[in-house]
Amino acid sequence: MKKTILSIALNAPIKNLFDYSLENHSSITPKPGQRVRVPFGKQEKLGFISKVSDATTIASSKIRPIINILDERPILDSELLTLIDWTSKYYYHPIGEVFAAAVPIYLRQSKYPKIAKEDSASKPLALETRKKLTKEQHQSFKNISNAMIKKEPIVLNGITGSGKTELYMQVIERNLKKKEQALVLVPEIGLTPQLLGEFRSRFGNTIAVIHSENTPKENAVNWVKAKNGLSKIIIGTRSSIFTPFQSLGLIIVDEEHDASYKQQSGLRYSARDLSLVRAANNGISVILGSATPSFETLMNVETKKYRQTVLKKRVFSNSLPSTQMIDLRVHPQERGLTKILINEIKKQLDNKKQSLIYLNRRGYSPATVCIGCGHVEECPRCDTSLVLHKSKGKLICHHCSTTKNWEESCTVCGESVAPLGKGTEQIEEYLKEQFPKTNIIRIDKDTVKSKNSRQEMLSQAKSGKGEILLGTQMLAKGHDFPNLTLVAIVNADQGLFGSDFRSSEKFAQTLLQVSGRAGRRKEKGLVMIQTYNSQNPLLNKIISQDYLSFYKEAIKEREMPQWPPYSHIALLHAESTRQASVFNFLNQINNNCLKKNIGSTLVLGPNASPIEKKSGRYRGQLLLLNVSRKELHQFIKTMDLYIQKQKIKREVRWAIDVDPIDLS
Ligand code: ADP
Ligand code: ZN
Repeated sequence: MKKTILSIALNAPIKNLFDYSLENHSSITPKPGQRVRVPFGKQEKLGFISKVSDATTIASSKIRPIINILDERPILDSELLTLIDWTSKYYYHPIGEVFAAAVPIYLRQSKYPKIAKEDSASKPLALETRKKLTKEQHQSFKNISNAMIKKEPIVLNGITGSGKTELYMQVIERNLKKKEQALVLVPEIGLTPQLLGEFRSRFGNTIAVIHSENTPKENAVNWVKAKNGLSKIIIGTRSSIFTPFQSLGLIIVDEEHDASYKQQSGLRYSARDLSLVRAANNGISVILGSATPSFETLMNVETKKYRQTVLKKRVFSNSLPSTQMIDLRVHPQERGLTKILINEIKKQLDNKKQSLIYLNRRGYSPATVCIGCGHVEECPRCDTSLVLHKSKGKLICHHCSTTKNWEESCTVCGESVAPLGKGTEQIEEYLKEQFPKTNIIRIDKDTVKSKNSRQEMLSQAKSGKGEILLGTQMLAKGHDFPNLTLVAIVNADQGLFGSDFRSSEKFAQTLLQVSGRAGRRKEKGLVMIQTYNSQNPLLNKIISQDYLSFYKEAIKEREMPQWPPYSHIALLHAESTRQASVFNFLNQINNNCLKKNIGSTLVLGPNASPIEKKSGRYRGQLLLLNVSRKELHQFIKTMDLYIQKQKIKREVRWAIDVDPIDLS
């Protein structure tokens, strides 16, 4: 008699499934999507049934039986299994690790949460808080409805404060009437409390939230509630794209351009891209919302792959903030701030208005320099300077956290050491001197230590109690500070000239996001930008607040070198404690794969990564580029198979990043 063979996905860095046999005493019928316990070496492991068959390549004397099946019925349905399988193939990542990314840790520890029925929907919906849509919103509502009928993706391209959240809620409300669930992806829950707050007050307990600040059990409970239909709306960060649903009717990706949708290690997936795959599999729509859509998305609108609907007006004040450039060649700065800016902050304070000072650099200064010999204190393990954290009296590496005491005299020549460049801590120090009686709130990773402290600080900021807000990108995202009228960008040049082809796009997105915090009510806002490049054409396009004409200008620079979205790219990363090993590995792959390069994939490299040394390891990469996605994937597949077959030195770690957004 033939044995039943279960092909199991195990959380291990091995691409294959593992075959086990089923002993006949099991009372549970095996099905894909069930959890099982299996022997693995001398241990026991939890895995997922991926396939049930009677065939295996393992000799019948060698095959081991599973220990037991945990679930009467699969916890993952075929829709999700398809998505997991697709993800594993598209990102060339071991399927067991994709399961691990998709299923909350609590469930992977063989547990299953009990759900109390009355947990859900005990708080009634407060639909009366629904707002009457503006004319523009109403038109977008109709456009979205049409896209939903056609089951097509649609971009909601609406400037900051144009009422995108209200639209999401009304679209979802109608969806709920059809008894369909909705998935709302947000970049980082803690930094975008706005959307969550508004959803909570309107939809009450029909919402469940999945993100890393929940306990593992809470996330498991919410996951199960989505699966059995008890929760109608799931709001979550990246990994919630893998939430199971009973009847998913719509996916919304808010701030679709946000880099946090792409995981940068392990399974390097894009939740935004997966949302489109998942929607297509289910015959439903995706709404991609943003004030500053990614160039990829705008290109997809141009080529009619996505529809688009535009909100050009703000709900409250009809005008966007006005912008003023402060030319740093003309206006000297003292510790990062010009006199004009200080005067403007003063004016805002006199009018009882808030100001937001933005600088995407924490610490006191990004480096220190000896005024005698020019020595810059560097991290011994990374290719970067150590950042001065003055109040702590430390020099800290922002890559690997290496920490040294700060010596005020040079370790080489004994002369005195000076801060080089500005960080938020320094700006705060200066502001406190200028405005000793003012309540200044600095919000960055150093001042925000916990979920509670962040909430406390943000609520002070929102209430207007904090008179000057100062911070990094933590302050830039979807906050609504009603009393804020001035936004100042301390150093625009820092973002304008980055090293990769997306630098100006990312800079424009951040700049418009931060600017969008100003003047969201009656008063008109003002954005002041300190720069040495006030004539820069791209900068001028951005600050005319017309993102689309910026896009049209900036995308030209990508056409000739055929950077995305004119092509598709992938990276092969390698790293090792020995520099030579990195290049030997990459050269070997390169030489071999070029021979087999049937398509026209362009292989750039091997090159050292932009930050060559991190945490004591040397890093290098091959960059693959092809206009045809299909050909690119043929190439990666060949390369991946080739690497699998090689005996690679243990000291070399490698990874494939498909559609990378961080090239460093
Ligand atoms: P966005 O997400 O596009 O930046 P929001 O959704 O935060 O904009 O909307 C900005 C503000 O306008 C919010 O306070 C929101 O409650 C309010 N709002 C949105 N739509 C309407 C409307 N139709 N009538 C009145 N207020 C609205
Ligand atoms: Zn370091």
